[in-house]
Amino acid sequence: MDGAKERYQDESVCESDTMTDDLKAIAEKLETELSGQGPYLLRFDEPMARLTTFQLGGPCPFCLQTASPRVVVTARRFCREYGIPVRLMGGGSNILASDLGIGEGLIQYRTSIANSSACIEVRDETTVYVLGCCPFDALAAFCAERGYAEGVEASGIPGTVGGAVAGNAGAFGWQIGDNVVSVDLCDDEGNMLTYSRDECEFTYRHSCLRERRFAVLGVLLRFSRANPQQCCRRREEILALRHEKHPDLTRYPCAGSFFRNLEPTSAAGRRQAAGYFLEQVGAKAFREGGAGVFERHANIIVKLQATCRAMDVY
Ligand SMILES: Cc1cc2nc3c(=O)[nH]c(=O)nc-3n(C[C@H](O)[C@H](O)[C@H](O)COP(=O)(O)OP(=O)(O)OC[C@H]3O[C@@H](n4cnc5c(N)ncnc54)[C@H](O)[C@@H]3O)c2cc1C
Repeated sequence: MDGAKERYQDESVCESDTMTDDLKAIAEKLETELSGQGPYLLRFDEPMARLTTFQLGGPCPFCLQTASPRVVVTARRFCREYGIPVRLMGGGSNILASDLGIGEGLIQYRTSIANSSACIEVRDETTVYVLGCCPFDALAAFCAERGYAEGVEASGIPGTVGGAVAGNAGAFGWQIGDNVVSVDLCDDEGNMLTYSRDECEFTYRHSCLRERRFAVLGVLLRFSRANPQQCCRRREEILALRHEKHPDLTRYPCAGSFFRNLEPTSAAGRRQAAGYFLEQVGAKAFREGGAGVFERHANIIVKLQATCRAMDVY
């Protein structure tokens, strides 16, 4: 595997009771810091299986769920001050977590589709500001309704806009980095900064933001105008195509395509679908424990049985 999927491994397996007690003491301090900053939910020993679309993985020591950028910044600052290792996540749709759990706490920056309109602010005819917690598909729906020529390609992609910007997610030859003007970030010490599109160093399914452990708090996007009716039709077509080829997450938990597509072999060539080559070698028949390759897409590994473990996929 090429590392396309984020693998959350445990380096220092949770030290059960002692750690939980320490954490609980610190959590009380954290709650004091967070008071008045915005809504959040703090959970302990949360199974990664409950937080990821793969529905796999052991516990993380704690998970702070919020849709408030202020809460993210304050929590990061606090964790740095107290030496608490913490990682950011969005919708958990691009993560395979270890069965042993992860040795870091999580800040989960996301909101529901129902609350997504509060995450998108129109700045002018072509620019919008979107919070990182916004569902990616809600942005796609917004782009279609408003008549933006780009962004509709994200229709049906799970996860958040923040996760998408960090990984330069996209489909059908489009990627979100194409429309980025600037990104508001928070480093792991809780300092806020803004990167221009060039500073994000976007390449295929990559930006420098992830390796620098920046949190994407919000992003300014610029689109070109198009006919809204055509955009809405395009969205319907994309959703139908995804419905036909991609697994229904409620029946087949997964994290989307497992391997990156292949770089072109000549300057004139296009990127080649990894699924095509996987299909040629009979990957659709592959099974390991409770995991298997999805019958309609050779590049998607799915959890087939409740007994499936992350190791079966890995
Ligand atoms: C059925 C299915 C279909 C998919 N189809 C596509 C597709 O067509 N194209 C595509 O590109 N992807 C696809 N994906 C993968 C995934 O949905 C996207 O990559 C998505 O953008 C990941 O966002 P997330 O919020 O779920 O990130 P997560 O899985 O939560 O996190 C992934 C990484 O991003 C980081 N991250 C998350 N949020 C932030 C943030 N706010 N700031 C900084 N870093 C952050 C995390 O630390 C982690 O390193 C698919 C997944 C599934 C399950």
